Amino acid sequence: MVREDRGGPPGGPAAPAAASSVPALPSSVAQRLHHLGRRVACGPPVSVADGVTLLRGGAFRAMNVYLLDDPSGGVVAFDSGEKGMAGPILDAAAERGGLRRVILGHGDTDHRGAAPALRAAGVPIACHADAAPYAEGRGGREYWRPELLPRAVRAFHALSHRAVWDGGPVTIDETVAVGDDVCGFEVVDLAGHAPGQIGLWRASDRVAIVSDAFYVTSMWGRPQEPALPVRAYDHDLERARESLRRLAALDPATVLPGHLGPVTGDVRRRLEAAAEADVR
Ligand SMILES: [Zn+2]
Repeated sequence: MVREDRGGPPGGPAAPAAASSVPALPSSVAQRLHHLGRRVACGPPVSVADGVTLLRGGAFRAMNVYLLDDPSGGVVAFDSGEKGMAGPILDAAAERGGLRRVILGHGDTDHRGAAPALRAAGVPIACHADAAPYAEGRGGREYWRPELLPRAVRAFHALSHRAVWDGGPVTIDETVAVGDDVCGFEVVDLAGHAPGQIGLWRASDRVAIVSDAFYVTSMWGRPQEPALPVRAYDHDLERARESLRRLAALDPATVLPGHLGPVTGDVRRRLEAAAEADVR
């Protein structure tokens, strides 16, 4: 559904660049630095399922953006990763016919990160209606409880949210609802970790793309068994458990989470265990 009165269409004229007294680099050097910057921000595109390409961004390559082949041409991005990924997302999408729209799995800082820059490039941004106030607002800080994190993690995350992950509030142009079709996937309800969190489910090959329904990364970015997100970042833990039980009951063959992954093998049992486990 297209939202109205969202502050004008995306892709309006960009604000003029601030005047700079820094001398310009030779174009070949500038171009090499530009390419190096994009390689630092994001790894090469990887095919992870039929019509699904994964971009792994960030220093630990733990920030996932999925490009879905759109039957009408180009690709649709699910989640937008951290803010430095905007250029690599546009580059990878251009090689696949162009970026048609971005759908945020939820409104947290590290999922809306590149969305403001992508919108400025003319791409409409969508999410579930319940996630829109957070994508357009403080990116989850409205209800997070960082005081529950260990002190060192809290400091690391506070800096990362501000300096690395969050691109800031983004205007939501369209909403998607549970049951909608997105590039052959069905939108499913995975709310709990965040309000209006959604995933995408394709029954034909049992592929699920799930944003932060669970983590396979620790708070330091290290791999771990599937677990519910930590309390500090959860909006409604009981609802997160219910969403994960429903996801497990779909019996997915491949699950593509918001960080690290993919998760394959005995997925159902591992997700069932995560849904019932204690949460830190
Ligand atoms: Zn996340």
